[in-house]
Amino acid sequence: MTRPARVVIDVAALQHNLSRIRSLAPSSKVMAIVKADAYGHGIERVARSLQDVDAFGVACLDEAEHLRLLGITLPILLLEGAYSAAELVRIQVLDLDIAVHHEYQLRMLEQASLSAPVKVWLKIDSGMHRLGFPPDEVAMIWQRLQQCKNVAFQPRLMTHFAAANERDNTMTAEQLRIFNTATAGTEAQRSLANSAAILAWPATHADWVRPGLMLYGVSPIQNETAADHDLRPVMSLVSELISVRSLQGGEAVGYGASWRCPEAMPIGIVAVGYADGFPRHAGSGTPIIVNGQRACIIGNTSMDMLAVDLRGVSHARVGDPVELWGANLPVEEIAQRAGTIPYELLCGVHKRLDFIEKHG
Ligand SMILES: *Cc1c(COP(=O)(O)O)cnc(C)c1O
Repeated sequence: MTRPARVVIDVAALQHNLSRIRSLAPSSKVMAIVKADAYGHGIERVARSLQDVDAFGVACLDEAEHLRLLGITLPILLLEGAYSAAELVRIQVLDLDIAVHHEYQLRMLEQASLSAPVKVWLKIDSGMHRLGFPPDEVAMIWQRLQQCKNVAFQPRLMTHFAAANERDNTMTAEQLRIFNTATAGTEAQRSLANSAAILAWPATHADWVRPGLMLYGVSPIQNETAADHDLRPVMSLVSELISVRSLQGGEAVGYGASWRCPEAMPIGIVAVGYADGFPRHAGSGTPIIVNGQRACIIGNTSMDMLAVDLRGVSHARVGDPVELWGANLPVEEIAQRAGTIPYELLCGVHKRLDFIEKHG
């Protein structure tokens, strides 16, 4: 494609971030979370670049099937388990691990006729109240799993944190306590920690950690940057200036004519817009990098374009490189401006863009 808007994926950064995870949680196995097309980075290239993880975690059977078709033989966990009984046969054939978080899933397993047992992770709701069995049912469910002929020996135990990204929130310690109490005395591998818990709550690391966001070089923790944790952003959303013009004071820029030049000034137009996944809510004042220099977005972002204040950019010319987020401009900052979280921006990058891999 000739349009200058592109996504650059820094494969070396991905590998660097994995090594950071290994050194933060040296006794834990790493399950790389690659749901939602690897947080928008492309599941295929991410999985290929991370062959030395211990497992992959995905949201659904299609994603897992995609990985198997690529020849990936590592364990793959379906984080939400089987959605229907029909999926169980495929799950067994593809040798996938499944979470079991609800009574209907356990019943499906008990009633299925499979040619071999499947590997199961019992998901416990330690307080997030999204998926999982209540702590007081764990002993009984565990017993049913032990007795189920379709469950491979030995099931594993998992839970998920609601607020591990907040260092001063006591909820994570409370969830850990609830999980430990509910599973005390049970001989099984355990997994609790997402990215935030890997960084902020080492007591939760257990047998398996499940990093998503930090693998992609983004900080999940409030008010802490990736650089604070020696993580390197993997995705950069970049484009170019396709127009540079001088406007008079008082002249308006963009739809709604909502932004007016406070003085005579140069403005640039960048070939990227909300149809590429750049958030329209990140309004005037949002940082942007032009030619390596920090500048600001002005006016309303259009479908395929946005405007930039070039007063602070020397010698700006058509064709100059622009970074919307990535290696030089944390996506965390843009997410904050847009009233969202970096996860949503990364996942929302449009597939129409060219993806370019950068190695080393
Ligand atoms: C998405 C997900 C993760 C990864 O979370 P991050 O915050 O991206 O590290 C871990 N575990 C489960 C169950 C998930 O759904």
